[in-house]
Amino acid sequence: VNLLHQPSVQAVVINYRDITHRKKAEQALKTANRQLNARLAQIEQLQSELREQALRDPLTRLFNRRYLSETMERELKLAKREKKPVSVIVMDIDRFKKINDKHGHRVGDEFLTEISKMLQSHARGSDIICRYGGEEFLIVMPGANARTARKRAEQLRVHCETMRISHNGKDLKVTLSFGVATYPTHGTEGEEIVIKADKALYKSKRNGRNCVTVWEQRRR
Ligand code: GH3
Ligand code: MG
Ligand code: MG
Repeated sequence: VNLLHQPSVQAVVINYRDITHRKKAEQALKTANRQLNARLAQIEQLQSELREQALRDPLTRLFNRRYLSETMERELKLAKREKKPVSVIVMDIDRFKKINDKHGHRVGDEFLTEISKMLQSHARGSDIICRYGGEEFLIVMPGANARTARKRAEQLRVHCETMRISHNGKDLKVTLSFGVATYPTHGTEGEEIVIKADKALYKSKRNGRNCVTVWEQRRR
């Protein structure tokens, strides 16, 4: 404070306080805060990894059955609001027991992973692919009507048919049977659609396998 003009002082008065402690405390707080945020981000990352693991099948990395029920509920809600169809394709490997019995479980597993890769490489952005059972797969197709889903299933059927796995100098192949059902044409609830796709799949099995069946309501 300039007090030069005050006859009794005639000086510049400088007043200062050492705030080193306060600054250090502030710095320590900032560091602690940063560390806490980093831990939090780490925990969030771990949580999302855990959730991901709980929803994926370890062999094929496809979504599992638990995720499917969540998905169907969400997709049906969305479809109802937007007045759009949702199709479900269910597929099952034909005579897979024979592959395991003849060539061993390892070869069987190889077919499972190869089919998963094939399904993923032909998926559209909105498709949700699940390993539905041991050797059963399911694709939820938001926005696809029964006609589109049948076409897609037919393409996947051919892709599987042309796939080969080498084992002991032999090229092995498997085929898939398919069932298709669609919201709202074949039902209003997710579970109902999956059940009907499953029933259509069994019709494909009865009709000689390696084919696609769209659910059809029997007329009374
Ligand atoms: P179908 O044409 O009627 O479907 O005959 P299938 O022999 O494929 O059908 P079924 O349902 O009777 O048998 C399924 C077989 O799938 C039983 C089991 O040996 C095999 N399987 C299921 N999960 C796995 C798996 O994770 N790995 C292997 N290698 N095989 C599996
Ligand atoms: Mg089966
Ligand atoms: Mg089978």
